[in-house]
Amino acid sequence: MQIENIPLAAVLGSPISHSKSPILYSYWFKKYSIRGHYIPIDVDPSNLNQILRVMPKMGFVGANITIPHKETVLTIADQITDRAAVIGAANTLSFTKAGKIFADNTDGEGFIENLRQHYPSWNPKEGPAIVLGAGGASRAVVSALLQNSTPEIWIANRTRARAEKMTADFGARLRVIDWYAVGNFISEASTLVNATSLGMIGKPKLQIDLKALSKKTLVSDLVYAPLETDLLLFAKNKGCRTVNGIGMLIHQAMPGFSRWFGTKPAIDHEIKNLLLA
Ligand code: NAP
Repeated sequence: MQIENIPLAAVLGSPISHSKSPILYSYWFKKYSIRGHYIPIDVDPSNLNQILRVMPKMGFVGANITIPHKETVLTIADQITDRAAVIGAANTLSFTKAGKIFADNTDGEGFIENLRQHYPSWNPKEGPAIVLGAGGASRAVVSALLQNSTPEIWIANRTRARAEKMTADFGARLRVIDWYAVGNFISEASTLVNATSLGMIGKPKLQIDLKALSKKTLVSDLVYAPLETDLLLFAKNKGCRTVNGIGMLIHQAMPGFSRWFGTKPAIDHEIKNLLLA
């Protein structure tokens, strides 16, 4: 009797117990009747290379990568997509049978798809975007906005040097604005994105001057705990279109699932509720 190989995938990080990815994957396996397994693996940085090299031989077809390995995997992968290279981090690895590792970053795509799903008429080309933050998430958002022809992106970050590094990496359509001067620019933004961890449960509040925020601005917060941040609540009361971060979490996982298991999952309310439970 021949034993069928069940494809395996994983999420690698340290710590890893907080990861929501296993919830997503088991939900999709069940929903689409797919035979597969997805497991969280706590990997010490010193073992990352060795573990990644052996995974394809063990039947793994791919892996998601989270903190603290997102940058290091680029030094291990055999091939890197342009977007992962410019962001400087990868969150999705695909393995070939021969053991080659392809690294991609789907965070930016997840961000854009989430906005498009909520507001199909949202046009990233319409005007400038303000992006708060200059960490990994900000880099993914900026890369995706540039890819989608946003004419200008204004970056504000507590540590200005980190934002300035982004202008060097991403080019002339980026401009650094002072963290304390965001309020002076806000009325002109077509899109406003919080890509800092401020406003998240257990973190300090996001305190920027929002008085001049226009109701024409689409406001998105990458934070999803709480689902409705103070920023989104303020924007909603102003009449703005608002998008929380939970959909991005789902959308960034979709390309890996479809590459590895051959089915493009759809977003539904049940999965959002499961993730938030
Ligand atoms: P990161 O690389 O650690 O960057 C954190 C950012 O927050 C930096 O810009 C940092 O500024 C800023 N920040 C932190 N504490 C601050 C404070 N007290 N005052 C002012 N700024 C502060 O993290 P990340 O990976 O980019 O993630 C950022 C947020 O996005 C997190 O909340 C994360 O959960 C969320 N996220 C959500 C999704 C999703 O799917 N919805 C995906 C990715 C990330 P400095 O540079 O000055 O430190």
